[in-house]
Amino acid sequence: MNNNKHIALISVHGDPAVEIGKEEAGGQNVYVRQVGEALSKQGWNVDMFTRATDAEQAKIVQHTPNCRTIRLTAGPEAFIPRDEIYGFRHDFVNEFLKFQHQNNLDYALIHTNYWISGSVGLQLKAKTGLPMLHTYHSLGAVKYKSVSTIPMIATTRLAVEKACLENADCIIATSPQEQEHIRTLVSHRGNTQIIPCGTDIQHFGSISRTEARKRLGIAPDAKMVFYIGRFDPRKGIETLVQAIAQSEFRNDESLRLVIGGGSRPGHSDGIERDRIESIVSYTGLDAIASFPGRISDEDLPVYYAAADVCVVPSHYEPFGLVAIEAMASGTPVIASDVGGLQYTVVSEKTGLLAPPKDVEAFAQAIDRILSNAQWRDQLGSNARQRVAQKFSWCGVATQLSYLYDQVSTQPEMAVDEVATA
Ligand code: UDP
Repeated sequence: MNNNKHIALISVHGDPAVEIGKEEAGGQNVYVRQVGEALSKQGWNVDMFTRATDAEQAKIVQHTPNCRTIRLTAGPEAFIPRDEIYGFRHDFVNEFLKFQHQNNLDYALIHTNYWISGSVGLQLKAKTGLPMLHTYHSLGAVKYKSVSTIPMIATTRLAVEKACLENADCIIATSPQEQEHIRTLVSHRGNTQIIPCGTDIQHFGSISRTEARKRLGIAPDAKMVFYIGRFDPRKGIETLVQAIAQSEFRNDESLRLVIGGGSRPGHSDGIERDRIESIVSYTGLDAIASFPGRISDEDLPVYYAAADVCVVPSHYEPFGLVAIEAMASGTPVIASDVGGLQYTVVSEKTGLLAPPKDVEAFAQAIDRILSNAQWRDQLGSNARQRVAQKFSWCGVATQLSYLYDQVSTQPEMAVDEVATA
């Protein structure tokens, strides 16, 4: 038995200590932070490594007595787009090893997140022999199918993702759909295990719709459709706006479309936000649409609870935390019939699934839920129950903890076999 409970989570571009909802910060940042904190409560000592993006930031942020974020200097201490961060991977590896050496740290394993961290992890594994687990968060092989221009970095990314699968001790797929993609599009070699993402079921679901609406100043009989997330073309916000423009309720004075999330001007999601705002104006929805910007963790449960429905119109989503947060809040979800959303949202039971980019199907789904309050409540209550059973952080951390123990004690064993033994 290996008693070393000190582990390193690596998230080069997704800083677990930043405010979520700005710039490129989203699900990965939340995942790493929540997993790290939950594991620390289960006896692990967790160091979460990320890249410093601002010289003013603290280099170490302590979250719980046994969980901290460590910011390493690799490349400029400024925001740079993800794909450019790859060029600084060797610096990151060197800084990691230096930090480990200077602080006399001995890790039982590394758990890397997203392909850039995967490339760092592969180097660390080759240099030190540390067991490596990896979560993709997004797969190039799936992503590049749904975009019109393939970036220059694509070949490198695909090669790194394949190398991660074939060389890491275990890949953590967050849904059966992601596991299927990994197997059919990346490689047949290597170990995978499904452990979903989670959410805080005490935090989400802590307020009633009536109370939430009072807090937000939204009338009890208003019809509120809610989106929250990064402004990224992959998120399909345009489909939602066009669907509202086609809805049978579009001239209903009580209709509210709330599109939350957003960042500082001049960054990449700022461009998408401008584009969405112009579609709102062009479709004549200015009067019913609002853009509250980034919504804090404290206010998010209030928005989810106030909404009649939360819409997740992504073109592709490996998991999609927003869906389970809304569901935990007792709000039905209308989502694209893709990826992890097919796993979390059960169509006709906890919400509705619609083909991605299909404006008419989204409009019909929204109209069905808005026109039947009793059914909306039934869907919402089923949704909350599903999340409580399958997607709490505590349950997720228990599964991860078990896998970590297996990988750090018997790294040579095939995890698929161990898990089913
Ligand atoms: N989020 C937030 N405030 C915002 C926008 C987003 O807290 O203003 C959070 C949201 O609650 C969720 C995460 O960002 O936890 C987005 O994760 P998801 O998996 O849905 O999408 P990703 O960003 O990974 O594409």
